Amino acid sequence: MSTSGYPEVVIAKGDGIGPEITDATLRILDAAGAKYSPTFIDIGEKVYLSGNTSGIPQEAWEALIRAGIFLKAPITTPQGGGYKSLNVTIRKTMGLYANVRPCFTLKPYIPSPFPDMDMVIVRENEEDLYAGIEHRQTTDVFQCLKLISIPGTQRIVRYAFEYARQNGRKKVTCMVKDNIMKITDGLFASIFREIGAEYPELEQEVMIIDIGSARLARYPDRFDVVVTLNLYGDIISDIAAEVSGSVGLCGSSNIGTELAMFEAIHGSAPDIAGKAIANPSGMLNGAMMMLEHLGQHDVAERIRWAWLKTLEDGLHTADIYRQETSKRKVGTSEFADAVIERLASAPALSSSSKLASKPVQTLDYHRKEVKKELLGIDVFLEWQGGKPAELGKKLEASISAPFKLKMITNRGVKVYPDGFDQTFCTDHWRCRMLTVDGNSPRNADIPKLLQTLVEAGFDVIKTENLYQFDGVRGYSLGQGE
Ligand code: NAD
Repeated sequence: MSTSGYPEVVIAKGDGIGPEITDATLRILDAAGAKYSPTFIDIGEKVYLSGNTSGIPQEAWEALIRAGIFLKAPITTPQGGGYKSLNVTIRKTMGLYANVRPCFTLKPYIPSPFPDMDMVIVRENEEDLYAGIEHRQTTDVFQCLKLISIPGTQRIVRYAFEYARQNGRKKVTCMVKDNIMKITDGLFASIFREIGAEYPELEQEVMIIDIGSARLARYPDRFDVVVTLNLYGDIISDIAAEVSGSVGLCGSSNIGTELAMFEAIHGSAPDIAGKAIANPSGMLNGAMMMLEHLGQHDVAERIRWAWLKTLEDGLHTADIYRQETSKRKVGTSEFADAVIERLASAPALSSSSKLASKPVQTLDYHRKEVKKELLGIDVFLEWQGGKPAELGKKLEASISAPFKLKMITNRGVKVYPDGFDQTFCTDHWRCRMLTVDGNSPRNADIPKLLQTLVEAGFDVIKTENLYQFDGVRGYSLGQGE
């Protein structure tokens, strides 16, 4: 809370069209009587180019931690030069685990083939392939680690169900690829089913992401709340925004326990920066979500009415201007003036409140105790020696009790024993070692095994321990194992 008694909101005007759309948005907020005390920070391109590869100076972090609320305009990430995406850095450093993106159509005011589309995508924001843990492991093969956790999944799934319940939504769809990634995406789906049982009033479905995205592009009006993993969420939220016909209109929130960040979903649009023609609606929608988060529902609702009325009256920025549906093409500032003029009037559109996004609180995580047993080890080798059987025989000759070689896979497919000559092999081999008697190996057995392999001339590039948890296998089988 600031000295004015109003909540402190940290504001970054961003790059490209950022300053234009931020000024327009703030003028509307002020005219509508939003109660906030602004602190402006500089982040982004200027900071990157001054030599700070994160794009965020120390004083900006301090302001964010103090205020806990952030209204952010889009940022330009300079190409190359090792600059890290500032959005990803803020989301992960501050634990902004839920990315909430309402995507809706406003037909007939904004043309769209889907008049009834009104969905909210709840995207997990911290885990998955976005952990950014990548390695080149051999001459041929590169790896990106996909990390999915129980607390991370519980948090996002609970958030999606609570969001649906508190915002009067009817259905929650979970999108995963658990037919292929049975352990990681399978965890996400099973937690969805488990937590879903606590929300019997909500219709629930699990969809495979490939057909799910296809349906979302073709029948977006059949979806309500969609919850999914980070990468899938990134992709489908752009599909949803695109089919709604309104990439320039949608806002999003990034919710964490200590900080909430609100923004437009689009980027800094350098192609139209400085021309005063950008649509401020995306940022304005982000700001409305922020007002809801701050409990200023009445102010958010007034702005929403006025914004819809402006669109309904046919005052459109260039990105949404169509001769058949628009009355006048307006610039950024003129659009803001038009919204301000209409703040006192209610639009003919009756369902404006369905666009409101009420924030939700989620539960703490309590870790359950499990019995974890080591069963063996996968040793990954770089080997360019020849046929898989040659490697298999060489390994069998080198290792001794308590380990025995169970199988070798190449890119996940079993190639030894009993592989197919047709399988294409790279130089990256996963060699599964289990104990001879099926008992747990002792921890000290593993370094001895690795020592033996290195002394026999093998190039060990990494290992993965094979565990079971409460008697359930914690690793996938090789294809053909
Ligand atoms: P973009 O969203 O900036 O632009 C895509 C197209 O949409 C452009 O033709 C642009 O003119 C148009 N557009 C976007 N917003 C508009 C608006 N409000 N009004 C009218 N037209 C609009 O995507 P891009 O060109 O791929 O990226 C440009 C820069 O933005 C890059 O540096 C990228 O890294 C950055 N970016 C930032 C964020 C963010 O800060 N959250 C998100 C995405 C991209």
